[in-house]
Amino acid sequence: MEEYILKVNNLCKKYGNTIVLQEVSLSVPTGSIYGLIGENGAGKTTLFRILAGLSRQTSGQVVLANANTEAEMIKERRNIGFMIEAPALYSNLSVLENLYISQLQYCGKKDTDCANQTLELVGLYGQKQKRAKHLSLGMKQRLSLASALLHNPKLLILDEPANGLDPMGIIAFRKLLLKLNADNNISIIISSHILDELEHIATDYSFLHNGKLLKEISSSDIFKSADSLELMKNRKK
Ligand code: ATP
Repeated sequence: MEEYILKVNNLCKKYGNTIVLQEVSLSVPTGSIYGLIGENGAGKTTLFRILAGLSRQTSGQVVLANANTEAEMIKERRNIGFMIEAPALYSNLSVLENLYISQLQYCGKKDTDCANQTLELVGLYGQKQKRAKHLSLGMKQRLSLASALLHNPKLLILDEPANGLDPMGIIAFRKLLLKLNADNNISIIISSHILDELEHIATDYSFLHNGKLLKEISSSDIFKSADSLELMKNRKK
């Protein structure tokens, strides 16, 4: 198994003359839950869109597992599942029907067993006949996560998935991510604008500020580091 499931080298992104990401380099260990912390507008979504292949960098490199060529990268990208920006659900269709649509889009065929197993995995099996518009926000997040999991990804990219969830919803979602990581061997990259939200689950962290990566640190070192304590103090102001 590769030591790192994903590496980013000197990534830059410009929109016109505006620099949104500046020489971002990071390494995501295989099996980790990697927390990306950054304030609103720091560049988290932009970075995740590039990692997921939804947008192209201006310069720099993204390397998945050990892919050395463009063809290998295309193959490796199939091992990524992502939830970026608001969940796109068909509100008048049921939970199960929404998953069928995702299957047709991403896997090319409908597979009822796989859809049911995935709903079981995210704790939505009992709601499978409910229309998406009648789901709570936490359930919608789970449905979105189920869509991202349908093709058995090795890496999940989650852009602020806890947004809008109540404290109980956040705890339940966290437990689900820990389970996916431990039982299904899925590495996870997850963003948030607050460290608190990730400190119960992340094994590694990086801090993005104005498009620059300030620091990359493991969970065991974070509380030892004076810089990190400073970052945490600032966060609480
Ligand atoms: P938030 O936490 O608010 O979602 P973020 O860290 O995800 O913020 P991004 O959405 O990546 O930040 O945005 C980073 C910067 O890039 C912002 O200044 C934003 O206005 C700019 N930006 C993002 N997309 C575009 C675009 N398509 N065209 C121009 N500027 C953009």
